[in-house]
Amino acid sequence: MRLVFLGAPGSGKGTQADILKERLSLTKLSTGDLLRAETEKQSPLGKKAAEYMNQGKLVPDDIMIDILKKKVTEFEKEGIGYILDGFPRTLPQARALDAMLEKIEAPLDAAILIDVPEEELLRRLTSRWTCRNCGATPSFPGGKPDDAICPNCGSKDLYQREDDTRETILKRFDVYRKNTYPLIDYYEKNGLLHRISGEGEIEEITQRIETVLKKM
Ligand code: AMP
Repeated sequence: MRLVFLGAPGSGKGTQADILKERLSLTKLSTGDLLRAETEKQSPLGKKAAEYMNQGKLVPDDIMIDILKKKVTEFEKEGIGYILDGFPRTLPQARALDAMLEKIEAPLDAAILIDVPEEELLRRLTSRWTCRNCGATPSFPGGKPDDAICPNCGSKDLYQREDDTRETILKRFDVYRKNTYPLIDYYEKNGLLHRISGEGEIEEITQRIETVLKKM
């Protein structure tokens, strides 16, 4: 199974991709996680990507398409299904993915759009922290207490992403509207789009996605 997860920053697509990859025995490529790992390593790719990410901008398409091609080639060689979380983010990226999959006659099965109103996204992102140990993203709506621990693994090593500040978040919403929104139309026309409400408990949202996937 080959899936694309679409959604604005803070829509919960990363969380859902993590849960569903386990339940469906898939692997996942999160381009945001990959770029953050490169930034931590201070690799040339990481340094370049950080210039864009810290301003809420998109990393250029040519860089992203190269990364995608390498990763998807690996997945296809291993014969495992995958979820793309955070790719494609632009029409050229979507077209490059389609062209690549068409060549190997391995089309996408679905594009899942996780829909959340913007006020709710802003509330989530400004209270979102990330666990350096396990990657979970706990939320502290009233501010993070000094003794807060990760609800997933118990680590105290929690940090706020540099691009999760109010100003950068608003910029990322702008970028989403301008560059990523057209993908909704693109996948709708391909007949691949499934809209899922991203409001409610995490498990409820997972079940909504599972219901859609079972019907395919
Ligand atoms: P995410 O974790 O998906 O919110 O991504 C964090 C940041 O990484 C984005 O704001 C972009 O700067 C960059 N990024 C991730 N995926 C892509 C992509 N497919 N195209 C361009 N930039 C990306």
